[in-house]
Amino acid sequence: MSSEQTIRTETDVATDAEPLLRVEGLQKYFEEADGFLDKLVGDAGKVQAVDGVDLTVRSGETLAVVGESGCGKSTLGQTILNLHTPTGGSVEYKGEDLAGLSAKEMRPYRRDLQMIFQDPLASLNPRQTVGKIVKAPMEVHGIGDDDEDRTERAKELLDRVGLKPGHVDRYPHQFSGGQQQRIGIARALALEPELVIADEPVSALDVSVQAQILNLLDELQDEFGLSLVFIAHNLSVVRHIADRVAVMYLGRIVETAPVEELFENPQHPYTKSLLSAVPRIDAADRTDRVILEGTVPSPLDPPSGCRFHTRCPAVIPPDDWPGTQRQFKDGFTFRNRVLAGEIDADAVRERLRADGTTPDDDEVAARIVEQSLPGDPADLPPEAADAVREAAAALAAGDDDRASDRIADEFTSPCEREDPRTVSAEGEREHTATCHRVDPDVPGRPDVF
Ligand code: SF4
Repeated sequence: MSSEQTIRTETDVATDAEPLLRVEGLQKYFEEADGFLDKLVGDAGKVQAVDGVDLTVRSGETLAVVGESGCGKSTLGQTILNLHTPTGGSVEYKGEDLAGLSAKEMRPYRRDLQMIFQDPLASLNPRQTVGKIVKAPMEVHGIGDDDEDRTERAKELLDRVGLKPGHVDRYPHQFSGGQQQRIGIARALALEPELVIADEPVSALDVSVQAQILNLLDELQDEFGLSLVFIAHNLSVVRHIADRVAVMYLGRIVETAPVEELFENPQHPYTKSLLSAVPRIDAADRTDRVILEGTVPSPLDPPSGCRFHTRCPAVIPPDDWPGTQRQFKDGFTFRNRVLAGEIDADAVRERLRADGTTPDDDEVAARIVEQSLPGDPADLPPEAADAVREAAAALAAGDDDRASDRIADEFTSPCEREDPRTVSAEGEREHTATCHRVDPDVPGRPDVF
């Protein structure tokens, strides 16, 4: 990595051309009283759905926001449009801060800022005709001379999105999923917006229909000069539609780059794992699939330091680690499972009994290691192997606290202690990543991944 490498945030990058939308430090936390999310996570506290997001969208640009389910990307889209009141940070549209504006104060901006939803049918009023649905925003914003004029505009829009003008008199349930999404797109375009946030607009559709809707959005973006924020959980969907991509993990953006740069030269381990799941036609482009351990942690209690550290294949060992990174990562995974209370010794014992044996604690401990340590304990440095075996023995004996005490200090990483900075990739001023391995000021970060 170059010694001249500079640290540029997403905000710095955007100063070169004043963006249409500038999001800085955006946060959206849900309190216990906010309802359904708390039922999902089952505990009191703050759900940090979006936590310090910086983004920019330039005029006419498509920015894709990509991440797994539950990473906060839909909440991000809705908070940008002020459908949720931000907990912190700012959302500047054409230099005006929208964060926290009331519904009345937002009204002048609603015309410019529109949304396309994931589930087209759920977002369309089943009791209204398609014509009424497409005309409704025009009526609210006083577009068109009269109802006849608005009906004509609705027909033109339906025609433009690939439906028939005569469909104005039909109801949403009379259309296929792809056609319903076309209606949703026509409604979003009715106000001639400048910025559209499309929240997983094709994920509810058949694969064969997805490409048609993506092509339509691409064409309409050119024709109407739209800026588009395209939210998706799958990188392969965005390759042909996005100009830039922001990869999101657990409420934060971890990498941003022009789309081809991201595909050719990913920097963040999370991006690399997402890309490894993208089918490639050219055998030379294929990489080994990186299977991430575990699931996305709860945004109610996100991991310390780098939020990805509990699943990161490239997690950094401490300076005095005597083995390889791979060995460390295996032990670190085991240790995190113990500390998270994910290993159920009673369930392991029951399964062994179901196999027809009467297991003692040693057999239960051996099975725990077999199931919860990704590699072979014999491959670990001796002290680390002892810690794994002793922690498993404590679990088998029903002493979870002793297991945690034994393993907690054995595998520790700078990734869990320190928040990584957002830095630019070498030679690529529009390419930023938030990972110690990309940061030239972090020692011991050789790229082993
Ligand atoms: S900071 Fe550490 S845990 Fe986070 S992505 Fe980079 S290597 Fe992985």
